[in-house]
Amino acid sequence: MYSLKLELKLNNQEKSKLAGCAGFARFVYNFGLSMLANSWDFEGIKATDSKRLTAIEKVFTNHVKTNPEFAWMRQYPSAIYSCALRNLAKAVERWRKGDSGFPQMKSKRRGDSFTVLKKAGTYQALGEPMLPFTNKQVLQSGKRITIPGLGEFRLKRPIPFLCSSQSFTISRTADKWYVSFSLDIEKIPPVIHEMESVGIDLGVKTFATLSDGSTIVAPSSLKKAKTKLSKLQWRHRRKQIGNHRQGIRASKNALTYFEQVAKSHAHIASIRRDFLQKTTTEISRKYYRIRIEDLNISGMIANGKLSEAVSSLGLYEFRRMLTYKEAFYGTKVELVDRWFPSSKTCSRCGSIQPMPLSERVYKCGAGCGHIMCRDLNAAINLDNAPTKKIRAASAKSTPVDRSGADSPERSRKQTSIA
Ligand SMILES: [Zn+2]
Repeated sequence: MYSLKLELKLNNQEKSKLAGCAGFARFVYNFGLSMLANSWDFEGIKATDSKRLTAIEKVFTNHVKTNPEFAWMRQYPSAIYSCALRNLAKAVERWRKGDSGFPQMKSKRRGDSFTVLKKAGTYQALGEPMLPFTNKQVLQSGKRITIPGLGEFRLKRPIPFLCSSQSFTISRTADKWYVSFSLDIEKIPPVIHEMESVGIDLGVKTFATLSDGSTIVAPSSLKKAKTKLSKLQWRHRRKQIGNHRQGIRASKNALTYFEQVAKSHAHIASIRRDFLQKTTTEISRKYYRIRIEDLNISGMIANGKLSEAVSSLGLYEFRRMLTYKEAFYGTKVELVDRWFPSSKTCSRCGSIQPMPLSERVYKCGAGCGHIMCRDLNAAINLDNAPTKKIRAASAKSTPVDRSGADSPERSRKQTSIA
């Protein structure tokens, strides 16, 4: 599976049309979530979540949508609401499995998104199966895209080749709109790796140190953009965003400022994403077996002193990208146990000595005379770590630290839904 995410080039009319669609999706999602949560209060009913959601969809189709108060809904493609409810069902399922927290109510402030799909296919005759691929939208290469139910839109960059897809997700980050869709493309032919194995030590100062001695540094533009943002935030520290319930209105200047902040955050995120995409691809092309430390990332973020550095560099994202690229480049990503003393061990003689964070150079005290940069020493140890300290990274591991996660019942109560 392969997917494309392209930026749309929209005029104001198109922007408000898409914003309307996203608002509709948000309304349906929140409606479904509150109906589902309310249905759990009736103890006599025994039904699974998916059955309840099917019933909710029926109520929505037959009673809510027909209500004259909600006539505005008719202007939007119906695929939007069925997709929104399907997304909700998936979110509830993930929560039940313990993979993520209880689904949150969607809000305008956290960005917009919705999904549409081509529903109808071509049938030869009544009762016959559908002709293959006819339920897919064919996409010509070029700077235009037809989105089912919404029509044609312009793109900033062209679709690179003729392809087809069934469902399309449209999303907004700050002031930019994107369309993403998945393509059925067979695996990329196997890559012959230049090097057999590598250990990677991730750090705050140098983003990554590789066991062959090379280093990867985060781009300076990232730091510049972050400084610019914090200066902006400091200058406008007294601006109020307004509060609907308390009747506080945001001033025009405040609104402009908050738009600027959102743009700036999006810019930083895109620099980081680009950096991580490029480095992980480079690493996956060059090395076959990649070993990284199984960092307790949520624990590190909880540590106030490290949190900014860790979360802004995207160490978790780095691991996630390396892991999903296994399938494309035929690599093997392995995690080294987080208690393995990678920085305390001498990479030549194997003796262990304490290494406070302030010490940047490893000087072996056991008498073998080994002197090496701290990070490189750790990277070599990760590469040579014993097999019992290793586990394979799985693409399904989630950012939620399981041990600290709430039980389903508790997290449901915390997210109080009226
Ligand atoms: Zn030594």
